[in-house]
Amino acid sequence: MATVGFIGLGNMGGPMAANLVKAGHAVQGFDLSEDAKARLAEAGGTPCGSAADAVSGAEVVVTMLPAGRHVEAVYLGDAQSGEGGLIAAAAKGTLFIDSSTIDVATARKVAAAAEAAGMGMIDAPVSGGVGGAQAGTLTFMVGGPEAAFDQARPFLDRMGKTIVHAGGAGNGQAAKICNNMILGISMIGVSEAFVLAEKLGLDHQKLFDISSTASGQCWSLTTYCPVPGPVPTSPANRDYQAGFTADMMLKDLKLAQDAANSSGANTPLGAEAAQIYGLFAGEGNGGLDFSGVVKFLRGKR
Ligand code: NAD
Repeated sequence: MATVGFIGLGNMGGPMAANLVKAGHAVQGFDLSEDAKARLAEAGGTPCGSAADAVSGAEVVVTMLPAGRHVEAVYLGDAQSGEGGLIAAAAKGTLFIDSSTIDVATARKVAAAAEAAGMGMIDAPVSGGVGGAQAGTLTFMVGGPEAAFDQARPFLDRMGKTIVHAGGAGNGQAAKICNNMILGISMIGVSEAFVLAEKLGLDHQKLFDISSTASGQCWSLTTYCPVPGPVPTSPANRDYQAGFTADMMLKDLKLAQDAANSSGANTPLGAEAAQIYGLFAGEGNGGLDFSGVVKFLRGKR
């Protein structure tokens, strides 16, 4: 069993760290939030006073932070505060696993710095949400060298069910934003179909029964149906309590648009989806589940 440093013990990181404890690893965790650290202690991990303390003596370090700027500051240090980063604090040969969802450019920049310092690093963003983090059934999309992937695999296996190596550094993040762009667009498409069906006097359940077995079939319809009734477990049945918030969908769609702009990819529907989620979240719905966008579409003419 290994000593694992874990930085970022929020909604996702907390249960992921708890699963590593359950697997028998000694988990040393740090978060800016005292509550998050207290939850780690309850789960059997060791809360630490700083990120540097959490990585001291660790063979593997997992980070689960909000966005690219947090990841960059935590790994490379913060010039403003003069605080050093994880790469300087950790022992040579430490394996870094960043599971945050961030932009591809920052993921590649931090991985290059880690490699230059003699560390292995993978970007390993996840899908599956808080439920998947708790159940240990996340999907990991991994970018980085083969050797680092192989070394990380036993740890990822304890936090997830599906683990895919998508290529070199940053490719895990690339896979994540491409996947979530499909999701954001398809949720709007399915929602628009229900809104049109309502206007045409076609029952929700009838549309579901037909489209779920026809060419309109997709995850946004059959697993996460945006209207109440057809899929009892979908957030529509609990007044769009998240789940995966509209704010998070907006974040991922913006990351996809940044990547599209910098790489010259043509993604008009991705751009439109980012606009629609921006308007929906801007009306005070950012904390609602992203499938609540159906309410916004219903309200428009
Ligand atoms: P969260 O806000 O619940 O957790 C982030 C944690 O990081 C917080 O506890 C915060 O205090 C901590 N933190 C911030 N800066 C820090 C620092 N400098 N040092 C130590 N701790 C610091 O967010 P979350 O829902 O756990 O999401 C984490 C990442 O996972 C995000 O990138 C998100 O996009 C991604 N993600 C989330 C979900 C989801 O359903 N929640 C699903 C897939 C991916």
